[in-house]
Amino acid sequence: MEDSYKHKGMRAKLIEHLYAKNVAGEEVLEAMRRVPRHYFFESAFLGHAYEDKAFPIAENQTISQPSTVAFQTELLDIQEGDTVLEIGTGSGYQTCILLEMDTVLTTIEISPILYKNARLLVKKIGYKKANFVKGDGSKGYPMFAPYQKILVTAGAPHVPMPLIHQLEVGGILVIPVGSAERQQMLRITKTSEKNETTVEAFDNFRFVPLQGEYGWHEIRK
Ligand code: SAM
Repeated sequence: MEDSYKHKGMRAKLIEHLYAKNVAGEEVLEAMRRVPRHYFFESAFLGHAYEDKAFPIAENQTISQPSTVAFQTELLDIQEGDTVLEIGTGSGYQTCILLEMDTVLTTIEISPILYKNARLLVKKIGYKKANFVKGDGSKGYPMFAPYQKILVTAGAPHVPMPLIHQLEVGGILVIPVGSAERQQMLRITKTSEKNETTVEAFDNFRFVPLQGEYGWHEIRK
């Protein structure tokens, strides 16, 4: 794996673009500057690594658009040492950004192939600390709950209640919710032990569907 001056230059341009778009603050964007996004692309597609767009990976899934990664991370308001659950590891790119921000991270992926690829790649890049889990993250991951932050990187038909249960009071869930075609980004803050919340709504996005028990599987049955 090589991170040449050319790659760094391309990445610097992307980061300047994200600053200009005002999608996130310095901490998030500087973390993104430190993660070579081209490591997540096959060499034939390197030219796409530093464009601000989503790109197909294995299993009909996508590596999220950089501005979306930046925006979701910003909404999480990450503090050093936060316990974070990421649902939808995908390529592992967002995983690395969260690790760069010194979180205590558990990431869960439903596709066994993506789980295996991302786990190997993220470790090879040099991040040794994340907990990789294979399974249905729509149910959360109770083993390490409560979390201070939960990030869902796939579009959900509604907010899965187990995720609220697994948040600490004061914790934040960032999740795109809506139809299969269009989801609104929500930031949900848990305000009491009784699972009361406040909800802030942001722009619309288009994510691949959240699968599993509390995802689209339930609706299709
Ligand atoms: N943030 C990732 C990245 O940077 O590459 C992109 C994630 S991709 C948009 C969404 C991922 O969520 C896919 O890899 C998909 O397999 C996964 N996914 C969908 N439903 C899931 C579920 N119930 N539990 C865990 N992962 C799920």
